[in-house]
Amino acid sequence: MEFRFKKKYGQNFLTDENLLDAIARDAGVDETATVLEIGAGAGALTRALARRARRVVAYEIDAELKPILAQTLAGLENVEVVFRDFMREDMARLEKELGEYRVVANLPYYITTPVLMRFCEEAKGCRGLTVMVQEEVARRLCARENTPDYGAITAALSLKGTARMTRTVPRTMFIPRPNVDSAVVRVDFEGGVAVKSEKAYRFAVRLAFSSRRKTLENNLMNAASIERGAAREILSAAGVPEGARGETLSPAAFAKIADILLERGLVQ
Ligand code: SAM
Repeated sequence: MEFRFKKKYGQNFLTDENLLDAIARDAGVDETATVLEIGAGAGALTRALARRARRVVAYEIDAELKPILAQTLAGLENVEVVFRDFMREDMARLEKELGEYRVVANLPYYITTPVLMRFCEEAKGCRGLTVMVQEEVARRLCARENTPDYGAITAALSLKGTARMTRTVPRTMFIPRPNVDSAVVRVDFEGGVAVKSEKAYRFAVRLAFSSRRKTLENNLMNAASIERGAAREILSAAGVPEGARGETLSPAAFAKIADILLERGLVQ
């Protein structure tokens, strides 16, 4: 079957059956699971998931993959492929249809962060994510505070649960071969940081990383439109040392700042 890979859609496909099955295992997919896959591609991961799961719903933006997917998924009755852009999909409607589910995907690299942020911010029925991402991104997702890899996305994920890398995957496993290696990260949506308002937490994280060169105090002054004295007092109440930068704060520290901002009406 004639198919031209489209770089703009991040089309790097997997074929190794052992690896595909290992990803399904890493994700903890069993016969009770409903799985949402983003980017079915030629359907190799979809098929591995369908063999283990109760139900798989897979999104694919590229309608040219229809005949290939029909062939790969022939005979599997627990799979539906939706040929639409996942990023334009109404999350509330989709979740109503899915019930409780897990996301498993070899993510198109150009929308890795927006996809992850969507699940962190909008998802209600999602129990966790197991995603293949570029290794550098995987390190960021799993980073601890006070390390160079720690950033806004790490802190945002911490609100939902903890991320861990389950395996690294060399670039040679993909067709066509990308320029970087990848890794699988599993995030279970449980045991996240306790906060009074998720919105306030996200505000605190965003402001802390809005300018990495500035101190948290300066970033807070700008974001909340407050004087230095007020910013200093809020950070001191949250137990943050003077002169600290965003990347030194643990998710628990962000939660404290968020709660104080909320109490003082500086964020809804
Ligand atoms: N799951 C396959 C595999 O592992 O071999 C393909 C993975 S490939 C990295 C990513 C897939 O996502 C591509 O098939 C691409 O066309 C699809 N894709 C890209 N953007 C998308 C979007 N916004 N919504 C749905 N699918 C998308």
